[in-house]
Amino acid sequence: MQNSKDSLSVVFSKEQIDERINELAKNINEYYREALKANEQLLVVCVLRGAVLFFADLVRHLEGNIELDFVRIASYGKSTSSSGHVNFIKDLEIDIQDKHVLIVEDIVDSGLSMNFLLKQLEVRNPKSLKLVALISKTERRENEVKVDFVGFDKANGFLVGYGLDYAEKYRHLPAIYDLKLSN
Ligand code: 5GP
Ligand code: MG
Ligand code: MG
Repeated sequence: MQNSKDSLSVVFSKEQIDERINELAKNINEYYREALKANEQLLVVCVLRGAVLFFADLVRHLEGNIELDFVRIASYGKSTSSSGHVNFIKDLEIDIQDKHVLIVEDIVDSGLSMNFLLKQLEVRNPKSLKLVALISKTERRENEVKVDFVGFDKANGFLVGYGLDYAEKYRHLPAIYDLKLSN
């Protein structure tokens, strides 16, 4: 499960994550209630790869006329610096014009990635554009990002599990852990 010398301590258990996702889904369904009544479309966008488990668990609770799509973005240079560059590795495949769009992200940290994605999608004229993040590290923000729905807003350390990786490892774990490397 882990490199024998790395140590993982639980930050959010599977039960805590499940419970929080239930609450988030209630808030999100409530928010889109009118849209749902009018049978307007909601496109839910997974930000690959970190958000994949969160997205899969969340969308099962969402109600309405729903489509799913995926993006992947990469940041270059100092990932925690506002001077970093971000681009699409994989863009959306579905047209978002006149649709409600909900972006599903794992962690908003400096805000660089979501600042980029929100700007890119805004100009495609969605009917609305919202962001849900499982974790928002608010104290580390360098780029303004409005996170409309937040799972957890207190999380220290370098987190792995539940989609989050360290060098592509640990994504499959059902809970979220703080990783301490052995060296
Ligand atoms: P931002 O552009 O907001 O600085 O970076 C956000 C991205 O950095 C997240 O989507 C995530 O991929 C990565 N990230 C930030 N904090 C952590 C962390 O604690 N653990 C892992 N595995 N990735 C993180
Ligand atoms: Mg991410
Ligand atoms: Mg990563």
